[in-house]
Amino acid sequence: MGGVRVVVVGAGVVGFSTAVCIAENLPHVSVTLLGEKFSPETTSDGAAGILFANHNPDVPVEQQRRWFKSSFDHLRLIAQSEDAPEAGVMLSSGWQIFRDVPEDKTPYWSDLVLGFRIMTEREMVRFPEHRFGQAFTTIKCECSRYLPWLEKRFRRAGGQVDQCRVDNLQDLSGSFDVIVNCSGLGSRSLAADVSVQPVRGQVLKMEAPWLQHFIRDGDGLTYIYPGMQGVTVGGTRQGGDWNLRVEDNDTRGILKRCSSLEPSLTRARILSSWVGLRPGRRTPRVEVEREVEVKKGGRSVTVVHNYGHGGVGVTLAWGTAMEALGLVKKSLQGHRAKL
Ligand SMILES: Cc1cc2nc3c(=O)[nH]c(=O)nc-3n(C[C@H](O)[C@H](O)[C@H](O)COP(=O)(O)OP(=O)(O)OC[C@H]3O[C@@H](n4cnc5c(N)ncnc54)[C@H](O)[C@@H]3O)c2cc1C
Repeated sequence: MGGVRVVVVGAGVVGFSTAVCIAENLPHVSVTLLGEKFSPETTSDGAAGILFANHNPDVPVEQQRRWFKSSFDHLRLIAQSEDAPEAGVMLSSGWQIFRDVPEDKTPYWSDLVLGFRIMTEREMVRFPEHRFGQAFTTIKCECSRYLPWLEKRFRRAGGQVDQCRVDNLQDLSGSFDVIVNCSGLGSRSLAADVSVQPVRGQVLKMEAPWLQHFIRDGDGLTYIYPGMQGVTVGGTRQGGDWNLRVEDNDTRGILKRCSSLEPSLTRARILSSWVGLRPGRRTPRVEVEREVEVKKGGRSVTVVHNYGHGGVGVTLAWGTAMEALGLVKKSLQGHRAKL
């Protein structure tokens, strides 16, 4: 496959994961990553980064399991290696608690995380407003460290990186044989997909080194995630809201909800506040769209999409990147057949 050129658009966790998968698995292909914003300026940088997934009724469970398992196993290897501090990846144990007993007590990912079990009555005593809980060990992946680490890994595999805005995917078709679109919310215009919607999220970083376990309310709105650099507490989930300002109202709501779960937080200092826009979509889009015709010379270029991960982009990045790699491989086989 000498001389074949692949471009990945997007420098968030989905773009860098996809670029690394392609560069490491297809060493004879030249891979370039283009992005308008890089770490620490992407949405991925501020994500709480906990590996966790809700059931998505529109994606086959086997596929959701594959994406989750692939990401979990990849990050677990890093968490248990000497690279863990530099990559910002750690194991994280804790509790997900529910006010009402959920229908699905053992979700599809329960055997993919470590040590999943239903909490005992004794453990539930500290959460008097909640009736049911799950205890397990998952992973926390802090993208402000993970993205620079992935970029190094990508460059080691021969990848090239360029900071620029892409106005139209077709503009790339003269220079590349396959275009992989990992532009997150940017896909609203790049892929003309208005079903991608911002889902605003505000979080705070707090100094509370005595907290060791995560606590997540099953409604997904209130969470406390101890990490390597402070404790991330959140959050909000405001669909269709493009506001990137930190709002005092949201800060107050977060502090009130989180300290009702963990009263010691009232004594903790706020280190920073952050807002990001999740690339919301009914399901992540991981597929080949079409062949873009280059006007001059009659060449055609495949576009592989990998975007729309909503609130679970860190969780699913490696899994969907492996799937995108499969689509790139397939399209290169077609490309070779045409040569
Ligand atoms: C408050 C909050 C908490 C979260 N917590 C978690 C969590 O605990 N676990 C979890 O799994 N997920 C979490 N998420 C979700 C996660 O952050 C996203 O799903 C993930 O970051 C999406 O990654 P991405 O690479 O698709 O997008 P991004 O990180 O937004 O990256 C998109 C990239 O595409 C580039 N781009 C866009 N348009 C163009 C263009 N026209 N030309 C060139 N480049 C372009 C951008 O510049 C950027 O580099 C959270 C999100 C928020 C906001």
